Amino acid sequence: MAARRLDGTAVAARIREELAPKAAAFAARHGRPPGLGVVLAGSSAASEIYVRNKLKTVAEAGCKAALFRLDESASLDEALATVRSLNADDTIDGILVQSPLPAGMGKGAEQQVFDAVDPAKDVDGFHAINAGLLVQKRATLVACTPLGCIELLEREAIPIAGRHAVVIGRSDIVGKPMALLLLHRDATVTICHSRTTDLPAMARQADILVAAIGRPGFVTKAFVKPGATVIDVGINRLDTADDVARFFAEGSAKRRQFAEKGSVLIGDVHPEVEEVAGALTPVPGGVGPLTIAMVLRNTIAAAEARAQ
Ligand code: NDP
Repeated sequence: MAARRLDGTAVAARIREELAPKAAAFAARHGRPPGLGVVLAGSSAASEIYVRNKLKTVAEAGCKAALFRLDESASLDEALATVRSLNADDTIDGILVQSPLPAGMGKGAEQQVFDAVDPAKDVDGFHAINAGLLVQKRATLVACTPLGCIELLEREAIPIAGRHAVVIGRSDIVGKPMALLLLHRDATVTICHSRTTDLPAMARQADILVAAIGRPGFVTKAFVKPGATVIDVGINRLDTADDVARFFAEGSAKRRQFAEKGSVLIGDVHPEVEEVAGALTPVPGGVGPLTIAMVLRNTIAAAEARAQ
């Protein structure tokens, strides 16, 4: 039987509807809307799309959404100066620096820029202070992608407490915070990574399997216990006919989409997993829209916390 589809687009739309009145109430109380400042350095096509979607979502909910652009050739000092001016701007409650920063800023630049963001305005939840508060289960601002995954599980009434959750990926922005959020909801959590021995067997123990790897179609049926919930965080683009043929059958919607557009998106989970999983997030339309809804939620949360 095909897995239940966890429709992130629909859930995100409901969350946006719930948040818009909160933004309006804040504006009425404080004489200004919650404000988000996004720093975009360079000209990556993917980053442009992510940033446009975040700004649009935040603006449509009645918040201020401002874009601060830096050239591909901008220096680390310029990026730091932009962040500091946003830290000092009282109409900005949330600051988001779009990753990746241009390679020319040097190794470790991203960490330095994230560290420069005022923790009270860190709507990405990447600052060491917020990461530490998350460990202690008292964070206000939590990384948007894992937060969105939890929101989706809870709103789709998928039980977490007492379940075994396996998270594949241990990045600071997805895997680790995801594992902590599951742990805080009383799951038993296993974190896997590139050095895990017999990963399919480990993954097969999961009632909830989260794939945050960055490898197209990596999680096959062999990784999935029948009936498990599978959350596919990965976003990978396939742009050759051979790659598309490796994953999608002739006559499928993805093949038609590739013929029209020249590329298709695929997650870290192989399409065949639909045959064994109990519930599964699609890519696109699963975790992605939730991530953006959580940027909005964190912007309002940061505004409310700063106003107190
Ligand atoms: P990172 O590259 O930072 O981390 C990837 C993780 O996957 C690492 O921990 C790595 O292990 C692990 N990994 C890589 N190869 C293997 C393997 N062969 N076996 C087991 N584990 C492996 O990626 P991110 O966490 O930033 O992102 C993960 C994916 O999520 C990407 O596709 C990204 O595009 C997507 N993403 C989607 C978002 C959304 O809104 N939907 C938002 C953010 C990210 P190790 O630590 O050992 O190297």
